[in-house]
Amino acid sequence: MLERVLVYLEEEHLCPHCRSKLTLCHAPPMHVGDGLGWGSEFLFICLNDECPLFIKGWNFIEEQYGRVGSYRHMELPGSKESYNMMVASKHAFTGSIVDIEALCRQNSRFQAEQEAAAGLGDCVARKDLGPALHLLTDNAASLEVRRQAAALLAQLNDLSCIEPLRSHKFTDPSLEHAVNMAIKEILANHFMRECPYCMELIKARANLCKHCGKELE
Ligand SMILES: [Zn+2]
Ligand SMILES: [Zn+2]
Repeated sequence: MLERVLVYLEEEHLCPHCRSKLTLCHAPPMHVGDGLGWGSEFLFICLNDECPLFIKGWNFIEEQYGRVGSYRHMELPGSKESYNMMVASKHAFTGSIVDIEALCRQNSRFQAEQEAAAGLGDCVARKDLGPALHLLTDNAASLEVRRQAAALLAQLNDLSCIEPLRSHKFTDPSLEHAVNMAIKEILANHFMRECPYCMELIKARANLCKHCGKELE
């Protein structure tokens, strides 16, 4: 979806009525006229309140239909298809303007996710914890890919994953469980455990925690 939006952002649509640049908006869930979908998640709309179509529309709709409303010029992305869309108020679309900055932020998050996912393939061979750790600590990444990352943790066998994973707040309980199991395995591989009092890593056979000094059973 994001890639599509970025392509749309490069399209320039001008209103034939006022020559203003059309604004990319999220499409309303239903076709206002006949209840059908627009067939597009996004619409380019003239939001210029001085647009002649919009100004004249108020009188026209009142005379024709006896109701309050006007028209906004609308075009479908990736096409020259255009409509006069009926709107009940001046603010009908101001809440649906595509937030480009937010989309770019989402997009860079998405790019980083894609890169990390691509890195999973040979991360064990490269002994590179990076991609798996990146995916596991990004709750917005695809759950499928994060499960793959969790499945590689024990093979990566890197103690340094424990601190960031323990500090991460997982939103998916099954993923959290998989991570906990992997941590358990990594600790066992290194003959280590976590101190139950201070959570620092200590030797599995230690009687005293070297960090907090507590006696261990
Ligand atoms: Zn216009
Ligand atoms: Zn301790």
